[in-house]
Amino acid sequence: MTKPFSTTTVDNDRVGFISLGCPKALVDSERILTQLKIEGYEITPHYEDAGVVIVNTCGFIDAAKEESLEAIGEAVRENGRVLVTGCMGRGDDAGHIRARHPKVLGISGPAAYEEVLSTVREVLPRHHRPDPRIDLIPAQGVKLTPRHYAYLKISEGCNHRCRFCIIPSIRGDLVSRPIGSVMNEAEGLVRSGVRELLIVSQDTSAYGVDIKYQTDFWQGRPMKSNLAGLATALAELGIWIRFHYVYPYPHVDQLIPLMADGKLLPYIDMPLQHGAPSVLERMKRPAAAEKTLDRIAQWRNICPELTIRSTFIVGYPGETEAEFETLLDFIEEAQLDRVGCFEYSPVKGAAANTLPDPVPDALKKERWERFMTRQQAISANKLRHKVGSLQSILIDSVDDGGAIGRTPADAPEIDGVVHLPGYADLQAGDWVEAEISAADDYDLWV
Ligand code: SF4
Repeated sequence: MTKPFSTTTVDNDRVGFISLGCPKALVDSERILTQLKIEGYEITPHYEDAGVVIVNTCGFIDAAKEESLEAIGEAVRENGRVLVTGCMGRGDDAGHIRARHPKVLGISGPAAYEEVLSTVREVLPRHHRPDPRIDLIPAQGVKLTPRHYAYLKISEGCNHRCRFCIIPSIRGDLVSRPIGSVMNEAEGLVRSGVRELLIVSQDTSAYGVDIKYQTDFWQGRPMKSNLAGLATALAELGIWIRFHYVYPYPHVDQLIPLMADGKLLPYIDMPLQHGAPSVLERMKRPAAAEKTLDRIAQWRNICPELTIRSTFIVGYPGETEAEFETLLDFIEEAQLDRVGCFEYSPVKGAAANTLPDPVPDALKKERWERFMTRQQAISANKLRHKVGSLQSILIDSVDDGGAIGRTPADAPEIDGVVHLPGYADLQAGDWVEAEISAADDYDLWV
């Protein structure tokens, strides 16, 4: 962590924490908070109580960077002793933070747990030392998600170099965790009451390639650190297992029978970004040459209830009307269940910024609207087909008016929910079976 200014020490052992960004950043926040608790620091939600405030930033797109800069500014104004970490803590972005907020005490990059901790120790040296007899840290560590679900990060970084993305320059190349370490964490989370694990990384389909699929041990059994080995082991835990950030490579086929057998949730989050091969090539996307529509059709043959979520970008530099039409044809044929769409926006430092033929903003907007109109009709139609079906539902929250939950087809935060009005006697984390009685464009009702 760079320290442009000398730090003054404070007689306080409370730390404020602001966590921004994606589930991968959330897992980093959980690790830092767990370590702080282990070392005897208290976490406070109030600026005025905190001896120092840590801001875990997101640097994925310019809007996220601006949000991070504003959060840092608020923490500096309200408290004054601020440490910045996360995706904006590297390269040019670190310089921007320093220029706009010269009073920050230190800046570090993503997953820089030890740097953050050592600066906190310097700023707040006189903290309460934990007594293991009374200061119990839960085995699963500090979680920022509700008790019944958790993100499980299986690797850090990415070996791809998609032209619109700066993640590899922020988080580095792929570093996979050996399967034993992943499974031990998964088991601990299940013991602490987790009913759903969301498997995250930058590229889940590449799991283990950097460590040559090394053999590791879980429960005394040797297993390969690869995607199929991990999926098979996770399936033994008897809870909902949901895979995110999977690309349509042939070896992903091995997950589908496990989904068809009910051992993994029949759900794949697969960011495809475009449907025209020429655009995918210009993006340098992983699996750009794969026959994705054929693969999806094969998967649905084996597992008809498979839900596929994806994201797309419209208005990538050079995107012609014909390429955009190919994208519309692609989503029509793919019949994806859940889809997000973004207008292309250049990110500072991304290779795509030098590509010729930028698409004018008005045209990007028009394409986004055409895309969304087409996709919303597909998604709404798919939801309508669920009316009358019996669904397993994991309850997320309950109040006097009833409960809100999710089916296997809905990931938390990004997909729709199921409303269960009147079911006020349920508890978060309960599983129930219920018949769906109504649907709108996003949500279901019981
Ligand atoms: S796969 Fe592409 S978009 Fe995803 S993190 Fe890697 S480089 Fe970025």
